[in-house]
Amino acid sequence: MANQTAPAIVYRFGEGVYINLTNRCPNLCAFCIKTKWNMDFHGNNLNLATGEPSARDVIVALEHELPKAPFKQVVFCGYGEPTMRLDELLLVAHTLKGWRAQAKYPPFKIRLNTNGLGNLINHKNIVPSLASVLDEINISLNAADEETWRKIVRPAQGYENGYEDVREFIHLCVEAGISRVVASCVDTTVPDPKAVEQVAKAEGAEFYLRSFLDAND
Ligand code: SF4
Repeated sequence: MANQTAPAIVYRFGEGVYINLTNRCPNLCAFCIKTKWNMDFHGNNLNLATGEPSARDVIVALEHELPKAPFKQVVFCGYGEPTMRLDELLLVAHTLKGWRAQAKYPPFKIRLNTNGLGNLINHKNIVPSLASVLDEINISLNAADEETWRKIVRPAQGYENGYEDVREFIHLCVEAGISRVVASCVDTTVPDPKAVEQVAKAEGAEFYLRSFLDAND
């Protein structure tokens, strides 16, 4: 049954505070749980059908949520691709960095979970601006070759050849000096995780084989 509560702009999971910027995404991954879980994530309604939050909405929601309990990271994630809303992402991330510099909260990391298509989505290299605000980036690599990638992520028109862009994006993030760059795939969908690990490492990233139920993308 659909979650009837108001949409969550920020929500907690583990030691993180997560930011739900958008439900839009150029992929339709075979493992994506947003429709299977009815836009609900552990009791949080992540359905933004009534409208996406502004950067100001997110900052207000964070100011309300962060003092409530300890957290170790703030993560741009949600049930969509955060780089679809690059301007808002950067504005919020710069605000978080400012709070951290002022020691407004105990030390925390700023992380983005992404499908790696941000440069294609925004028609430019967005990595330098991301590198200026992020401590960590988790990129869904998903496959060791383009054909398998296409079958798993089921990209929208215009993104069909995106696999090499994802690889390049990973490489650019490593080159830009983001402290932690992780490329992942999902254990239940990929035929050969070892081959994906080799690609991740060839691009200079850490590899993470994540379980389907982690659902952190
Ligand atoms: S990239 Fe993430 S949000 Fe987009 S379809 Fe895949 S799992 Fe879902």
